[in-house]
Amino acid sequence: MRDTVVLHPGLGVGHLAPMVELARLFLRRGLAVTVVVVEPPDAPSEVARAAAANPSISFHVLPLPAPPGAVSPAAAEQEDPPPPRNPFAFLRRANAPLRDYLRSVLPTVRALVLDIFCIDALDVAAGLGVPAYLFYTSSASTLAVSLHMPHMQAEVDASFGDIGDALLCFPGVPPFRPKELPENALDRDNEVYRKFLHAFGRIPESRGILVNTFEWLEARAVAALRDGACVPGRPTPPVYCVGPLVSGGGGEVNRHACLQWLDEQPENSVVFLCFGSMGSFPKKQLEAIAIGLEMSGQRFLWVVRSPRRDGASSSAGDHQLPEPDLDELLPVGFLARTEGRGLVVKSWAPQADVLRHRATGAFVTHCGWNSTLEGITAAVPLLCWPLYAEQRLNKVFIVEAARVGVEMAGYDRDREVVAAEEVESKVRWLMESEEGRALRGRRAALAKEKALEALQQGGTSYNALLEFVRDLDRGASL
Ligand code: UDP
Repeated sequence: MRDTVVLHPGLGVGHLAPMVELARLFLRRGLAVTVVVVEPPDAPSEVARAAAANPSISFHVLPLPAPPGAVSPAAAEQEDPPPPRNPFAFLRRANAPLRDYLRSVLPTVRALVLDIFCIDALDVAAGLGVPAYLFYTSSASTLAVSLHMPHMQAEVDASFGDIGDALLCFPGVPPFRPKELPENALDRDNEVYRKFLHAFGRIPESRGILVNTFEWLEARAVAALRDGACVPGRPTPPVYCVGPLVSGGGGEVNRHACLQWLDEQPENSVVFLCFGSMGSFPKKQLEAIAIGLEMSGQRFLWVVRSPRRDGASSSAGDHQLPEPDLDELLPVGFLARTEGRGLVVKSWAPQADVLRHRATGAFVTHCGWNSTLEGITAAVPLLCWPLYAEQRLNKVFIVEAARVGVEMAGYDRDREVVAAEEVESKVRWLMESEEGRALRGRRAALAKEKALEALQQGGTSYNALLEFVRDLDRGASL
């Protein structure tokens, strides 16, 4: 009996968490699910944490073989750059154990749902005759750009980094400058970018695309995806916008101290600053943020991570940074002077819970898609400070299309730091000005209401899931 949907997430909490939420959604609709994972060597506990928090979901960890020709695990790491710098190559090594696993349970497998970084497992599914879908964990707008990227790259016939400030016009999204693209896309010969182009080119081979968004938020992008504008010359698979899928939060057990601190703050008064699972800043930037927050006079809750040794302001590479030494990193006396009105948390805060807390009034975010959805569903406006991956593109859509946030100016790649004055003035604008109040009030409340509506019976995301399940049934009967 083919009744289990097997989900295969990419590396990192930003890919694992939404896939687990999708698994929970399937479970609620009566589907059996198994999440088949590869443990990231730099953060193996992510999978264990997700499994412990979701006892009703079955997790299966794939043993990862060494790359061909490697004689030892150490040699393997030499040959294959550690993830997530080259997640495609790393995850492709999982195809053989994935095939073995699927073969061992084949009569029960109804479909395989893949993260974009696991796209080459389409070959595994095809070889076994299992229907394969993509689960796109970022915005529909980025999906529209991604699908069109191979065509745009061929049209431009140069590196995007070499065409100056010319506006790029992709179907379904506002025009944007090349500098908003992910760093690796600026050089057409960049090895990782070539891998992305390969992956984007394969998306149409999937039977359907699930997207963690809702139609109201990205109506224009969804329309472009559906009318085939993004992939000229071949059909786009059906697009199912089933979101927003956001983590549930931790409840009352082991409640983090920052939530108790928030309990003591007035409603909608606290600016929350958090930069995803990988974002970190050099000391100089941390100092500027601290000065800006102090000058703003506003309440704040700030998650500070240690700077990277190479000084990179963000970027993927390692999740495991040491605990920050706040006295060494922040301006002298800052913590004492802001005591009571500000709280600095080291390394990690329970973000979903913080955003949902009644005291949280604004969110300075790196525009990772999970963070974006968590902000929107908590009716908290976004102050956008993108750092890596597709976050600059998300910023364009958040500010110009969805209009649920504003931009923190000065994070451009060629600038050294975002100035303290910019942090101060944007925080003040959001918290004190009439326009800022309107964004925090009416617009944020409307976006949250639309998100809830989409998920309720009869809503667009609810119906998209029903459509998807109908397609699963059709696929199973082939
Ligand atoms: N997150 C968190 N606490 C932190 C930093 C991140 O709970 O201190 C969670 C956040 O709630 C979100 C995820 O980690 O669910 C980050 O995913 P996102 O897509 O926003 O960014 P990424 O880390 O993939 O860049």
